[in-house]
Amino acid sequence: MPGLYLHVPFCKQACHYCNFHFSTSLRHKKELVAALLNELEWQRDFLGGAALSSIYLGGGTPSLLEIGELEQIFSKITALHRVAPDAEITLEANPDDLTLEKLNALRQHTPVNRLSIGIQSFSDEDLRWMNRAHTATHAQDCLRDALGAGFDSLTVDLIYGSPTTSDAQWAENLRRVFDFGIPHLSCYCLTVEEGTALGAWVRKGQQLPVDEEKAARQFEYLMEAAATHGYEHYEISNFAVPEHYARHNSSYWRGEPYLGIGPSAHSFDGYSRQWNVANNAHYIKALANNQVPYERETLTPAQRFNEYVMTSLRTIWGADMDVIRGMGGRFAVHFERASKVFLERGVMERVGEHYRLTRTGKFLADGIAADFFCE
Ligand code: SF4
Repeated sequence: MPGLYLHVPFCKQACHYCNFHFSTSLRHKKELVAALLNELEWQRDFLGGAALSSIYLGGGTPSLLEIGELEQIFSKITALHRVAPDAEITLEANPDDLTLEKLNALRQHTPVNRLSIGIQSFSDEDLRWMNRAHTATHAQDCLRDALGAGFDSLTVDLIYGSPTTSDAQWAENLRRVFDFGIPHLSCYCLTVEEGTALGAWVRKGQQLPVDEEKAARQFEYLMEAAATHGYEHYEISNFAVPEHYARHNSSYWRGEPYLGIGPSAHSFDGYSRQWNVANNAHYIKALANNQVPYERETLTPAQRFNEYVMTSLRTIWGADMDVIRGMGGRFAVHFERASKVFLERGVMERVGEHYRLTRTGKFLADGIAADFFCE
């Protein structure tokens, strides 16, 4: 079943590493919400009437929306779409927005049943270096309050490999998450992206690039510690206790259709991909003129194969030969031939019809996938 994504493009301040689309000016928040509601109307048929199995409000910082704005968005969604009774409905939130009052209001007035909280670290030094808007105390308090308010389906984001995050602090960050009993965890290696403060520092030589050895060491520790605490490593960056795999993101990884609403949001119907303009002012203006500002490309068979390999090899399920055969005989022949070297090196294994990365292979996921790409 398909998923619905809404992009809320506002943040209190720009984190130094982040290249997502957002604005730190909230001046046009009201107009933006009106445009989101309008786009929901325009795109109502994109998914062909199928019931939504997941709704995900991401960004940006959706927790900056007021409860009334969230109510408007959810009532529009339910007026336009069937929503599966057990749908996963996630709101991304930052710790400094999650007061007990806001958490209780979310429970009472919205159908949100899962929070994805951008903790990143429990160290003030790390958080200052990242330019996060919250403190270590906020991080700790919001998890306690979210659990207290009854949000037992929680996921937190953490970042490893940053210059201020020592191995001891990384172990401490994980320990706190495990102590709270958080059922899902997304851990991302710090990456240096163009167009960010960190990217500029590295380019000017004011900051060293990410220490690959430290990042690999912290990833190794993460895999071990998560396994010890009963988490399954079901995608390179994602860990969950049983029954808590993220449904929304899993549907992306399985290549299922989704509709993305909001500036910079992407949509996929199984064959073509489209993406909205990544500019709040243009987005608002276009919707005010009853136009959805997007570009579209139809994926070639090779692009579909490449995307499938790229995403599936990152998951616990791996690449399924039945799916690849369905894409065309030439892809199946190519995949089996190209996989031989990785099987011999022990970075990939075959289980029935599925090819997946071994523990060693997980350190090399993107490079391995790229070696399978076809034109
Ligand atoms: S990491 Fe999150 S809070 Fe920070 S700038 Fe990016 S979207 Fe905003």
